[in-house]
Amino acid sequence: MENENFYNRRKFLSSSAKGLLIAGLASSEILTSCSPGKKVTLEKSMATGFDQTPLPYSYSALEDVIDALTMEIHYTKHAAGYSKNLKEAAAAEGVPAGTSVEEILAKVSKYSTKMRNNAGGHFNHELFWKTMRPKRSNNVPQGALATAIDGAFTSFEGFKLQFANAAGSRFGSGWAWLILDRNNSLKIVSTPNQDNPIMDVAEVKGMPVFGLDVWEHAYYLKYQNKRADYISRWWEVANWDYIQNRYEQLIKI
Ligand code: MN
Repeated sequence: MENENFYNRRKFLSSSAKGLLIAGLASSEILTSCSPGKKVTLEKSMATGFDQTPLPYSYSALEDVIDALTMEIHYTKHAAGYSKNLKEAAAAEGVPAGTSVEEILAKVSKYSTKMRNNAGGHFNHELFWKTMRPKRSNNVPQGALATAIDGAFTSFEGFKLQFANAAGSRFGSGWAWLILDRNNSLKIVSTPNQDNPIMDVAEVKGMPVFGLDVWEHAYYLKYQNKRADYISRWWEVANWDYIQNRYEQLIKI
């Protein structure tokens, strides 16, 4: 198929590779269920549901990189709105119960603009909250992710420069992403509005390892027009434990 999406391709590659079954199942679990009542594998637990999950820290926990008022408005107003509107769109457009947000995103061109904006917005923010934690010094990736970053971008410093360039040069509202593409290569991309690289309409497709929100609502109270300052300070609150774990799960799919 012309527009074979990332998930189908990955599922095909996994199940046709010499082993199995288990790899194929694991990837389909991400697609088919995020129901908390069912048996949850680590892979399945990565699938995103339609409700907001609780913020894993207080609104003030990311001070002074991201201020408490920004966090509160961002979580309780902006992100809450995406979740609410996603649920409305899903009901109106006949999305079956138990569908993950990732499944919708992978064929988002078949849905409305409301679905695109809000399924995207909800997924992006659910991931964003988890990839932050209270700031710490010398906050750098470790392990397999650190090795992969060095391989793809020469060094962590080189990676941060390229990432900052993608985030800083995104015109208007959008996101910068570190993704795993179809070949399991790390790439830096950016998307407009609430789009993301899982979408079948994305220019470069892949699975987000993490993303940085560069909408003005994410930083304007503290940084005003100085987006570059927000980007350069964000690394202090990056939750590398979460991001590394996500990377290690994604490369197995
Ligand atoms: Mn946002």
